[in-house]
Amino acid sequence: MVIDVLERDDLPFPRSLPEFQRLFPNEAACAAYLERARWSDGFVCDHCGTPGEPYRFANRPGVCRCRHCNRDTSLTAGTVMERTHTPLSVWFWAAYLVASQTPGMSAVQFQRQLGLSRYETAFQILHKLRVGMVRPDQDRIGGNPAEHVEADETYVGGHARGKGRGVHDMALVAGAVEVKQRKHSGSLNKRRTGRYAGRVRLAVVPD
Ligand SMILES: [Zn+2]
Repeated sequence: MVIDVLERDDLPFPRSLPEFQRLFPNEAACAAYLERARWSDGFVCDHCGTPGEPYRFANRPGVCRCRHCNRDTSLTAGTVMERTHTPLSVWFWAAYLVASQTPGMSAVQFQRQLGLSRYETAFQILHKLRVGMVRPDQDRIGGNPAEHVEADETYVGGHARGKGRGVHDMALVAGAVEVKQRKHSGSLNKRRTGRYAGRVRLAVVPD
């Protein structure tokens, strides 16, 4: 399911922390936003297809219950938050951080910012959000004959305690980056060639 909030006038996107605070003060506000994102013309039951105002529960904000068949529809079904145990408000903070911060925030920074006790939770949320931000119609790079692609590989990871020297617990990652050329470099500095990095593809490779 792809919902582009930037294309929806009825789904405001916060441009600052105060605005975020005002839009998403609690779980209920986050749930209401998700509900509006999924059903722009009002709730429709996933099970029986009946439209109309559902039952909502203060202690279970991620759920709408159909008044016709009495079954529950999860607001997070089909999203990166599906079957989550993390509060919606934490996911919203996380999404805001990922979408508004400079790229490359580490899971440790992320964990600290969100006040999460478990590193694994922070890592999972960050990973899912990053995967979710990849455009589903992602095209291949290198398709333009006027621009070339540079590729290389490197080991990512660290030494495992008590395993001595050598390469272990490291992943081999292959990367490819588009080499783009600015039409007008706009600079008299000869070292500025106008070359810059375009889109990047990274993948863990077996060898
Ligand atoms: Zn129903």
